[in-house]
Amino acid sequence: MPSGLTRRIEAVQPSATLKITALAKQMRAQGKKVINLAGGEPDFDTPAFIKQAAIAAIEGGATKYTPTTGLPELKQAVADAFRKFSGLSFSPAQVAVTSGAKQALYNAIQALIQEGDEVLMPSPYWVSYPEMVRLAGGTPVEVRTRPADGFRLTAEQVASACTSKTRCLLLNSPANPTGAVLNEATLKAIGRIALEKGLWVISDEIYARLSFDGPARSILAVLPELAPQTLIVDGVSKAYAMTGWRIGFLAGPEKVVAACGRLQDHATSCPSHISQRAALAALTGEQGPVEAMAREFKKRRDLLVERVGRIRKVKLAAAPAGAFYAFLDISGTGLDADALAERLLKEAEVAAVPGSGFGWTDHLRVSFCLDTKEMLVGLDRLAEFTEKLK
Ligand code: PMP
Ligand code: GLU
Repeated sequence: MPSGLTRRIEAVQPSATLKITALAKQMRAQGKKVINLAGGEPDFDTPAFIKQAAIAAIEGGATKYTPTTGLPELKQAVADAFRKFSGLSFSPAQVAVTSGAKQALYNAIQALIQEGDEVLMPSPYWVSYPEMVRLAGGTPVEVRTRPADGFRLTAEQVASACTSKTRCLLLNSPANPTGAVLNEATLKAIGRIALEKGLWVISDEIYARLSFDGPARSILAVLPELAPQTLIVDGVSKAYAMTGWRIGFLAGPEKVVAACGRLQDHATSCPSHISQRAALAALTGEQGPVEAMAREFKKRRDLLVERVGRIRKVKLAAAPAGAFYAFLDISGTGLDADALAERLLKEAEVAAVPGSGFGWTDHLRVSFCLDTKEMLVGLDRLAEFTEKLK
């Protein structure tokens, strides 16, 4: 019998978000009326014209490999979309298409981080960031944001977390799990620290198109001098309701993007050709569905904030300004997040993600990726359940 797993993989935790979503889906399949406030994907269907493009691609024989980092016309469309929607200027050679934004992040971290490197990440952080950093041999360093600041990272917090080992700063605005959006002044101030200290910046902008109170700016758009040391991560998953198609983008200095391409050569090759054709249609087609979805998420956000405001034992520090999550302070319930999430699912049939996965054991993430009526029933159940707790 060969000896066991590597130390590297033994240390990896399962994804808290994927785990609870799978459990909720499984309970639903067993006929339980679970309300899913745990989901991390739009409940909307992929727009019909995008599906049609994929069907046409299959029928037209787009069933073979493409270049590893994507079809040339898709890279061009990604560069055009970055210009149009984020005000960022990249050549197609500075763009790689990946199997989801997750792979873009993974590749970027593998290319830039090694043993001894510290990577700053605002906390609460998205579940996969620390694991990806550890898999690269680096050390994740949490920069705790304050609920009183609406979980918005400040430049002072970044400056005081820097050491001689800091190599990279991970940003995520709009943020998962808080919905926090950084304003231009803050992004500039943070960017100046990165310039001064010579840090890589990996900016995960996957929720950029889902911003409710004005556009979410990219750090690179407000401080173009950062271009030689910044990588932007985006994709079609959230904006176009295409999570299952697995198409993400990485953009940045050509040398780094090419290095990520070499990794991809040996790991996964090209992303699905059919999905690339669908992504091309998404980026170049009618953008009405994206705007309609963002409007609907904003409506739900408003309803959620109002309803949560009436739950006695639960607090929301600030209305989420983007993405589709709210991060609730559950310290008033007397339970920690893991215990609350487990009992909520078993006893009240509501799925939500414990904050422990994001580094906060006294918070719970709820998402508004479900029909409003159901969302309100879910929140009513949360209110009743927490009220009953001693
Ligand atoms: N970054 C963040 C902050 C996310 O929430 C997600 C959602 N899964 C991703 C990246 C990965 O996106 P994708 O599904 O395109 O891999
Ligand atoms: N990003 C989503 C979430 O945070 C999807 C799940 C995942 O990829 O972790 O729920």
